[in-house]
Amino acid sequence: MNADTPVISMTPILPGSADAAGQRATLGVLGGGQLGRMFVHAAQRLGYFTAVLEPDAHSPAGRVSHYHIQTAYDDPAGLAQLAQLCQAITTEFENVPAQALQTLALTRPVAPGAAVVGIAQNRIEEKAHFTACVNVSGVSCAPFAVMETLAQLQAVQDERTDLLPGILKTARLGYDGKGQVSVQTAGELAAAWAELGHAACVLEKRLPLRAELSVLVARGWDGQVVSFAAQRNVHVEGILAVTHAYEGNLPPALATQARDAAVALVQHLGYVGVLCVEFFVVDDGSAHGSLVVNEMAPRPHNSGHYTLDACDVSQFDLQVRALAGLPLPEPRQHSPAIMLNLLGEVWLDGSGQPREPDWPAVLRLPGTHLHLYGKLEARAGRKMGHLTITGPDVAGVKTVARRAAALLGLPGLDVL
Ligand code: ADP
Ligand code: MG
Repeated sequence: MNADTPVISMTPILPGSADAAGQRATLGVLGGGQLGRMFVHAAQRLGYFTAVLEPDAHSPAGRVSHYHIQTAYDDPAGLAQLAQLCQAITTEFENVPAQALQTLALTRPVAPGAAVVGIAQNRIEEKAHFTACVNVSGVSCAPFAVMETLAQLQAVQDERTDLLPGILKTARLGYDGKGQVSVQTAGELAAAWAELGHAACVLEKRLPLRAELSVLVARGWDGQVVSFAAQRNVHVEGILAVTHAYEGNLPPALATQARDAAVALVQHLGYVGVLCVEFFVVDDGSAHGSLVVNEMAPRPHNSGHYTLDACDVSQFDLQVRALAGLPLPEPRQHSPAIMLNLLGEVWLDGSGQPREPDWPAVLRLPGTHLHLYGKLEARAGRKMGHLTITGPDVAGVKTVARRAAALLGLPGLDVL
């Protein structure tokens, strides 16, 4: 382990235990989306009570939790109630107010902490971390320039035309391709920045991508790190559509390099919890291409949902264990898997009218695992659920995935 990695002594919160007053061991989560829901499921399976702080009355996680505190994420009374109910608290969405995590951390273990979440929330700080770690991770990020002032805009237009064509990305609050504008020429840059409201941005060189992949890592309070193998991700219109998780999904040397880099990055952050690191495979003319680190998410990730059905411990199990100070076993994948994201379009016909997907036909296929998040309203682009296909061999998994995708009218069939 790295010398500058803080190690925190944490008394384990034992599953199913109760304090002297009879209050059951309870784990809390800020945010009520699908990631929170799957965290709650994993925590409850281990025997914990759960508490969710989320303003929406019908949230995926709030509806399945023992306690649902229905306030804004930064509401002092709501946060106080969460701290009072819980022995430790995590977060399920990236844009959680850092102040809320800081407030909770005054009285309770909070993982991941406000400082590291703050880094992952800001592309400028995130890239600074990647750059600072390049010697140990061995992987750099795409060439970029920070744009926060008119002088920086001018400097980029004058001196950094090597970054064009590029993508201007807001430093904060971007997700699923939102907060990004493609820029072809120096002339277009000013208009693109205005379109983004002159928010702090990074201009990133557009790279020729051969593939995208991600690695999920978990680190405990004691500094122990475990990880899943790299999975290959296919995005459609900026949103994850398909995850391929099986041997042979990527050139083995790149997969190993990505996993090692993700472990180095998590160690140097002194991070506690589950972290997802996303990478690009860039076409550099070599046989397999080279690795570039894109971004990281301070939580379990959509690309790790297959671990629920294809691994002996899932990313959510590891999130629970890391938070509670329990041992972190090295996860083992027991089946090849493909995950298909189910966006709102699956519930809408060609003219936008609601339709019910043919679930019996999908569930008749062998090795299909359906996860719906309990969202009441299907909207285009909204993540409603996912379908994981597992099986004894990769060819069979691909065949079933193609059939399921055809039944559901999913895009990206060509990549299966
Ligand atoms: P988000 O926070 O929306 O996930 P990303 O930075 O991951 O933002 O960008 C979304 C997608 O856009 C990526 O998954 C990739 O397909 C594409 N993309 C982003 N940056 C680049 C780049 N520098 N070169 C080529 N494609 C890119
Ligand atoms: Mg991304």
